[in-house]
Amino acid sequence: MSQLKEMNNFLERVKRLFNVEDQERIVEALNYAKLKHSTQQRESGEPYIIHPIAVAEILLDYGTDANTIIAALLHDVLEDTDTKISELKTLFGNDVSEIVNGVSRVKTLRYKSNENENSESLRKMFIAMAKDIRVIMVKLADRLNNMRTLDNMSGEHKVRKSLDTRDVYIPIAERLGFGSIKGELEDLCFKYLYPKEEQEISALLEHTLKRHSGDLENVNLELKKMLTELKIEGDVKSRIKRKYSVYKKSQAKGLESIYDLLAHRVLVNSVKDCYYVLGEIHNRWKPVPGRIKDYIAAPKKNGYQSLHTTLLTEEGMPFEVQIRTKEMH
Ligand code: MN
Repeated sequence: MSQLKEMNNFLERVKRLFNVEDQERIVEALNYAKLKHSTQQRESGEPYIIHPIAVAEILLDYGTDANTIIAALLHDVLEDTDTKISELKTLFGNDVSEIVNGVSRVKTLRYKSNENENSESLRKMFIAMAKDIRVIMVKLADRLNNMRTLDNMSGEHKVRKSLDTRDVYIPIAERLGFGSIKGELEDLCFKYLYPKEEQEISALLEHTLKRHSGDLENVNLELKKMLTELKIEGDVKSRIKRKYSVYKKSQAKGLESIYDLLAHRVLVNSVKDCYYVLGEIHNRWKPVPGRIKDYIAAPKKNGYQSLHTTLLTEEGMPFEVQIRTKEMH
């Protein structure tokens, strides 16, 4: 039942994103993978096909081409079924068969906590990346889905996968600028490698959010309204800080100095608009002294540019606003 639901959700999204010809190829790949994996199950007992579908779905968010989606659906058939690469080539073309082949060949160690081997697999990943970045995108999405579904595995397996993820996949996701994959992988590793600390942070965040549940949305709406009033073209995105970054910051500075549990990002078109918006925000909310940072005039070492400020809601809950141009972003 749930299998059908996942499949329909996926196909609906495919319909919206691809032309008819690509849609047909994707459906063909889906049916093929379903058949090939038909006797296999995930650890959860669910039909295996839900895994490749989930991997392909993750990639839909990144606007990848149809061949990457097809390769994602087929990414485990070489390794886990009797499929030959030549068959993939005949049915789905050279591009697809090469990506699937690459995915099957770039193996990261199945855990040896040996630093040399980690950097060795990291090196292999980078080489594959240079050849075709789509191989690594499928690898990352594969790992993300595997980490999301680790709960059914043994404790030892969880730790092993998490170490491997921490040492190989997270640095790559970071390097490629897949911020949300990196963030989610970090949170998942945090959960399996530091369960006690993760629970403490979860409890803290839950408590904070219960008290301030409306704040994030209210400020988001206010900021959007403000842009409209000022006739400035822009975008506002709001987020709750991720568990692992809260943890890292709390280790370094103490929990009480985390001002950006709730944070908003305003993207505008010009530098002039950035400063204008900053001034207007300070007019509408109470800024926290000493928390205004101008990384536009003085960019960070890695080239990062943005204006940061921290403000207080009427109830005294701090929130951060980052303002930058789309270009800087
Ligand atoms: Mn897989």
